[in-house]
Amino acid sequence: MKVNNIDFETYLKDYPDDRGYFGKYGGCYIDGKLQKAMQEITDAYFTICKSRKFINELRRIRKEFQGRPTPVSHLERLSNKLGNVQLYAKREDLNHTGAHKLNHCMGEALLAKYMGKTKLIAETGAGQHGVALATAAAYFGLQCDIYMGSVDIKKQAPNVARMKILGAKVIEVTDGMQTLKEAVDSAFEAYGREYDHAIYCIGSVVGPHPFPMMVRDFQSVVGIEARSQFTEMTGELPDAVVACVGGGSNSMGIFAGFLNDHVKLYGVEPLGRGKNTGDHAASLNYGTEGIMHGFNSLMLKDDKGNPAPVYSVASGLDYPSSGPEHAFLHDVGRIKYDVISDDETIDAFFTLSRLEGIIPAIESAHAVAYAMKLAKTMKKGSVLINLSGRGDKDMDFIIEKYGIRL
Ligand SMILES: *Cc1c(COP(=O)(O)O)cnc(C)c1O
Repeated sequence: MKVNNIDFETYLKDYPDDRGYFGKYGGCYIDGKLQKAMQEITDAYFTICKSRKFINELRRIRKEFQGRPTPVSHLERLSNKLGNVQLYAKREDLNHTGAHKLNHCMGEALLAKYMGKTKLIAETGAGQHGVALATAAAYFGLQCDIYMGSVDIKKQAPNVARMKILGAKVIEVTDGMQTLKEAVDSAFEAYGREYDHAIYCIGSVVGPHPFPMMVRDFQSVVGIEARSQFTEMTGELPDAVVACVGGGSNSMGIFAGFLNDHVKLYGVEPLGRGKNTGDHAASLNYGTEGIMHGFNSLMLKDDKGNPAPVYSVASGLDYPSSGPEHAFLHDVGRIKYDVISDDETIDAFFTLSRLEGIIPAIESAHAVAYAMKLAKTMKKGSVLINLSGRGDKDMDFIIEKYGIRL
């Protein structure tokens, strides 16, 4: 299939280019020493990851440890309530640790092992990436240093405990606002000191090349599985696929399976409390081109051109940019990006739980809300939702803020 002269039959092989660009987005904007480290990872990825041994080991891990393939479920009662359109969910909530993030963390950790590295380094905000990476480190017997701001350490006590139980070291960052941005800076600094024996593991399709490409490739298992499962279940492809977009890894993973099909693709960004309040994180819808955290993409900026403070009811979507590949596919027009507010999200969270017996992560509830809206505008057909994670992690927040609805 061709859109705007981009041939999607060969797209996944053609993009990014050798320097990590998707059109004008992407690249590798970091200082000299780490540039060398990124080149080392890129070279290792292209040799090791295409080897039969690596692929077979990753497939075995996905099956025996992660519990893949995760199923596709027909959301029958929700569909009946909405009308004639049939909704389905790809169940990444049933992936080990309860979300899609482990898909790329296991890939990154296996790559580290093949490269002879002994330590994984990362930052974490809400703690979900830290927990997934600590899980992968435990599995492969690697050390794991997770950098986390003091403010987040206080807010996310259960995830801090999980990381420690799994054997990771949680390193407190006390600079500046003591949240994600400072944690990223500290983790990069540590990587600069330790890159001979350590590898930096990014938590989404963001950061310098080769991470947007690698994380997409590791997550594409979601789209490949979903396409074949859906076809087997229904005899045809879905009319639309919907996924939430923070950094963009779960969405890129499921979209990768359908880019070359006549299937409409929708990425859903958090509108938070509304565009005009400034309390949102819809970088692809409202952002402008800029460079941050080592890559060029669409981003939300403050008056001085720095990454803006952003907000979402879902802590996993609370990021001022999205991966460069999303910015590219946005401009090309292959994927439509739209927004869903906090209120619509929380309604969908309760609706899916009550009607289907599935408590979604608040991040994933953005995709559910959008699919419900979309279904009402369609007369017939089917919509596949990527249910990126389960809602267990959100219980304290729901009790505190929405206890009245219980
Ligand atoms: C982290 C997270 C997200 C957002 O990250 P992406 O890279 O955009 O996928 C979405 N859903 C869940 C459950 C998460 O934990």
